[in-house]
Amino acid sequence: AKQSGKNAYASFDSSMDVQLRRRMRLLSELRRAIDCNELMLEYQPIVALSDGSLVGVEALVRWNHPELGLIGPVEFIPAAEESGLILDVGHWVLNAACLQLSHWRNGEVEQLRDLYVAVNVSAKQLSRGLSEQVLAALALSNVPPQALQIEITEYSLVEALDTNVVQLARLRASGVKVAIDDFGTGLSSLGYLKRLPIDKLKIDRTFVKDLPGSADDAAIAMAIVSLAHNLGLEIVAEGVETGEQAAWLRTAGCNFGQGYFFSRSVSALEIERTFVRQAFS
Ligand code: C2E
Ligand code: CA
Ligand code: CA
Ligand code: CA
Repeated sequence: AKQSGKNAYASFDSSMDVQLRRRMRLLSELRRAIDCNELMLEYQPIVALSDGSLVGVEALVRWNHPELGLIGPVEFIPAAEESGLILDVGHWVLNAACLQLSHWRNGEVEQLRDLYVAVNVSAKQLSRGLSEQVLAALALSNVPPQALQIEITEYSLVEALDTNVVQLARLRASGVKVAIDDFGTGLSSLGYLKRLPIDKLKIDRTFVKDLPGSADDAAIAMAIVSLAHNLGLEIVAEGVETGEQAAWLRTAGCNFGQGYFFSRSVSALEIERTFVRQAFS
């Protein structure tokens, strides 16, 4: 029982309570959400910095909750990871992304026929036979592996490096592209990079945010770009919010950009409506 005179404490306590309750509610309803198709994908354009043309999209999962509205992944992915439900979420995402790819590849819109779709995968998926799951999803939707990109954070890769390398190597051997996500935030040694079977690095947006003004971030971004190129990797900058950033990154040798300057994540329909017009530069 709470006593008077402890109001500040009591209200802190109850706001924690609200958050915790929401978290628990989401976790308890996630299973149903997957089965009832309440999850949905939005797609964020990825463009070539050289000419602003659309080259791919990143699939980003959302939960369209019947009472709570649209819920972002930051609110339910961590809980899904803890509970193991991430395996089901990940499976749903892979299949949904491949079906969308198949739709675009076989559709009317010329510019969308050789678009790639990037899918985020968690460490748990990687350690539970990701390559089989990905190849099954591709086969089911009859999509060539080259059209799919897997994004995995640096952080989750280094945990079980040897088994992860085997999974990624299998995917790459089949033609699936592999990118390291949030590169630069994993605090791991660079030595492991040359052992990884990967195609791309995505520079985390924390290094892009203060460009071109921040000399430190400019030095870091430059170093990442030249590291990537020397290892034969392509490079994507995340979180590009201004034209100045896009121009700076292009000059620095960065190949691709993604961020609010080009577009936020939008529905598949919106991709079809808007991005056939091409060129963001
Ligand atoms: P991420 O992979 O780094 O995805 C990029 C996030 O940055 C997205 O947030 C996107 O909306 C946001 N973003 C894009 N451009 C900009 C920009 O210019 N400025 C700013 N400030 N933000 C930008 P979102 O959709 O909330 O996703 C957050 C994270 O959730 C993702 O980070 C990814 O780690 C995770 N996630 C999303 N979908 C999935 C999924 O299907 N599976 C798994 N395992 N994780 C996912
Ligand atoms: Ca990503
Ligand atoms: Ca990222
Ligand atoms: Ca990020």
